[in-house]
Amino acid sequence: MSETEREVDVVVIGAGSVGENVADRAGRTGLEVVVVENELVGGECSYWACMPSKALLRSGQALAAARRLPGAAEAVTGRLDAAKVLARRTVFTSGWDDAGQAGWLDSAGLGLVRGTGRLAGPRRVEVQTEQGTVTLLARQAVVLATGSSPVVPDVEGLAESRPWTSREATSADAVPARLAVLGGGVVAVELAQAYARLGSQVTVLVRSGLLGGQEDFAGELVAEALHADGIDLRFGVSPVSVHRDADGVTVTLDGGDTVTADELLVATGRRANTAGVGLETVGLTDGDPLTVDDTGLVAGVEGRWLYATGDVSGRVKLTHQGKYDARAAGDAITARAAGELGDVAAPWSRYAATATGPATPQVVFTDPEVAQVGLTSEQAREAYANVKVVDYDLGAVAGASLVADGYTGKARMVVDEDRRVVVGMTFVGQDVAEMLHSATIAVVGEVPLDRLWHAVPGYPTMSEVWLRLLETYGL
Ligand SMILES: Cc1cc2nc3c(=O)[nH]c(=O)nc-3n(C[C@H](O)[C@H](O)[C@H](O)COP(=O)(O)OP(=O)(O)OC[C@H]3O[C@@H](n4cnc5c(N)ncnc54)[C@H](O)[C@@H]3O)c2cc1C
Repeated sequence: MSETEREVDVVVIGAGSVGENVADRAGRTGLEVVVVENELVGGECSYWACMPSKALLRSGQALAAARRLPGAAEAVTGRLDAAKVLARRTVFTSGWDDAGQAGWLDSAGLGLVRGTGRLAGPRRVEVQTEQGTVTLLARQAVVLATGSSPVVPDVEGLAESRPWTSREATSADAVPARLAVLGGGVVAVELAQAYARLGSQVTVLVRSGLLGGQEDFAGELVAEALHADGIDLRFGVSPVSVHRDADGVTVTLDGGDTVTADELLVATGRRANTAGVGLETVGLTDGDPLTVDDTGLVAGVEGRWLYATGDVSGRVKLTHQGKYDARAAGDAITARAAGELGDVAAPWSRYAATATGPATPQVVFTDPEVAQVGLTSEQAREAYANVKVVDYDLGAVAGASLVADGYTGKARMVVDEDRRVVVGMTFVGQDVAEMLHSATIAVVGEVPLDRLWHAVPGYPTMSEVWLRLLETYGL
């Protein structure tokens, strides 16, 4: 074998948080694993997504929380110090330097090849490095973990107007005086609120409501809060053209109105990075979406060697869920290498990421937060014959009234009546994110309501909403 050709057990293309996880999981059982990365080890979540966006939001939330409490409110009389918030954000991204995470790969015994990888036939990966092409031959598996990229819609002049995507918005070194945001999903609402609280005059342009796919009240309560933050929310609008000149970026809307801002953030979804990774060399089509099973195996490929995890897989585009899929895939690769696992893994075994889909948790880190797991009421009605939906005003819970004066929030429990188990839960309100895991355990564990009744929440905590929901249900 030549110097530029190397045989290993597993090749992972993409060292984002998900690629790192699958590599770690397979590597810790003794398989030789090499990760290929063409940008920063740690990927989107560490440098341009989860961590910096939450760092941009957190200080504003602390300030707003203090302002809801007499005594504390009098002590916080100034505005956010935007420069300090941006500086703290930069600490969380390690200044966009991946030495720490690359060092971790090394300490975990995982190899790293810096360059752009692509499949070049079954079990074969070619990597374009600065020194030339390196070919990696995988004895056991190749894992695609190449993530996703923002979609910039095909609107006249949009691409030429140099819009921000989430990358620019999370790595900006100054706060624009005026920011327009295109989109109404999670990235749009989080960054709109972050920048409004940092001092931008924000306009959100959205075709329908906010946070589609969540319970309706989630988008409605977040819209009220964004409005209270001074954000101009324009619903039912679509851009027809965009133009940048010395005054800034001007968006012309379908009704004829125009909105001018210093920056325009496009937050209209993300596309899996399946183009240019060599799918056509293994019998698939370049750029097509992938279908994977619960062990991460890619459908339509002969033999059990090609896996996909994380945003590229076409499953859930969330770090924690991608990492969960990655743990299952890493363990499945190891088990198949040892001849211990065939085509299909048993649901809920360590080799099958069974919870992805029916029991996926997600938090929207706005103020109020939206914390949701499992099915919404609409999804549950499609999935089950007998569904009961129970709502409760979170503000009426003693623990919540202590957290903030005038606490506004709502909880919804969705029950499959035939089994009497919770299949979905949504909390909206200040500081609800940390309550979500209780609901995730109830949904994943399919805990019967009659047993949940015995899970007594501490007094006075917001978790007492569980008791109120069960009482309202009829227990
Ligand atoms: C603004 C924003 C905020 C978010 N906030 C949250 C949050 O709070 N919580 C949450 O759970 N999720 C959040 N997400 C989603 C989360 O960021 C993604 O789900 C997660 O980053 C996906 O991880 P990944 O490893 O699949 O992909 P990535 O992190 O994108 O990693 C893919 C890696 O592959 C590399 N790569 C790609 N192609 C090649 C190639 N051919 N050769 C070599 N390397 C390659 C890339 O450089 C990259 O490092 C957020 C997303 C955005 C945009």
